[in-house]
Amino acid sequence: MAIDPYAWIEASLTTIHRADWYRFEQTISSRPGTIVQLEGRTVINFASNDYLGLAGDRRLIAAAMFATEEFGTGSTGSRLLSGHRQLHRELEKAIASLKQTEDALVFSSGYLANLGAIASVVGKKDLILSDRYNHSSLKNGAILSGATIIDYAHCNLAELENHLKEHREKYRRCLIITDTVFSMDGDLCPLPKLLDLAEKFHCMVLVDEAHATGILGKNGAGSVTHFNCTHRPLIQIGTLSKALGSLGGYVAGSSTLIDFLRNRAPTWIYTTGLSPADTAAALEAIKIVQQEPERRAQLWRNIETLKQLISQQLPNLKLLPSESAILCLQLKDAATALVAGIKLKEAGIFAPAIRPPTVPTSRIRISLMATHETSQLEKLVAALKSL
Ligand SMILES: *Cc1c(COP(=O)(O)O)cnc(C)c1O
Repeated sequence: MAIDPYAWIEASLTTIHRADWYRFEQTISSRPGTIVQLEGRTVINFASNDYLGLAGDRRLIAAAMFATEEFGTGSTGSRLLSGHRQLHRELEKAIASLKQTEDALVFSSGYLANLGAIASVVGKKDLILSDRYNHSSLKNGAILSGATIIDYAHCNLAELENHLKEHREKYRRCLIITDTVFSMDGDLCPLPKLLDLAEKFHCMVLVDEAHATGILGKNGAGSVTHFNCTHRPLIQIGTLSKALGSLGGYVAGSSTLIDFLRNRAPTWIYTTGLSPADTAAALEAIKIVQQEPERRAQLWRNIETLKQLISQQLPNLKLLPSESAILCLQLKDAATALVAGIKLKEAGIFAPAIRPPTVPTSRIRISLMATHETSQLEKLVAALKSL
């Protein structure tokens, strides 16, 4: 009897549907901004990572267009072959200058930067300690490295220390990996204490600043600066695709580290260099982040305003602890979250339901932008009230 070797896929999809875990994409047909056209409906956008409102900024668009005219659409090869341009180096220097590190290396995405950096600095003989709520790219980078992985409870440094006491000695190198702003919760990792522990147990630390760059710290350099840890030994990862409004990722750190990654990181060596348009747009965004601190200040005013509105008008809703532009409202299960997301959309609010397996508990996730107006925040709160 012939058995269809692909039949399991449909069965697996059915299981996903039954658990209310099924996902699909929704089309946005307008330029990025606080108001977008979502599946033909005009909605206020609380689902974007474009925290500073730069993805639709004229200056980024002009920089991308100019770079495309000048250098073409593709970079035509990997950086070590034919894909390297002066523009890449300018961007790397701008990132290093923002982060106050010796150097930086640009990858084609933040995801690839994490895979490449983690898999390059540790291997089979080594240990990785990983916060349980870390982003998928950190977790998969850890798996790719072949190191032994121990997860510790979210931001629980006492547990981290116990693992270090028990296991550190058995391994050659040890790497602690963590988001700084947790992407699905919005809270911050206790970086200074974590670095103290790392020092005590001779561990390297890799932090993912995806949701912190452009938002936290003096000049928008991120949470490392926010916590005054700028000159402590660290491997910093970030993305060009959130507050910086472009596409791509980076590693920032010592020049020795960057030189090493250029020679070892497979996700940098064996992939095509960032396109001229993406590179130029990110470079322009970094200039704006440094020159226009008022954008960041406005974002923080919006965060405080929304927190106040929620605590005044929706005292029964559970707002998860947050110190960033990501605010989450906890709901009892996936089905409830799904219905809430749909009802909000019908009310003209785009704030998606986030469900397992992405997170352990279902929630509505709100991300704020510097360009949101107070009236838009009030409309969000009114829609939440009527749920
Ligand atoms: C978005 C994100 C990434 C991936 O960045 P991309 O540039 O979109 O690939 C990595 N880490 C965290 C914490 C993120 O939120």
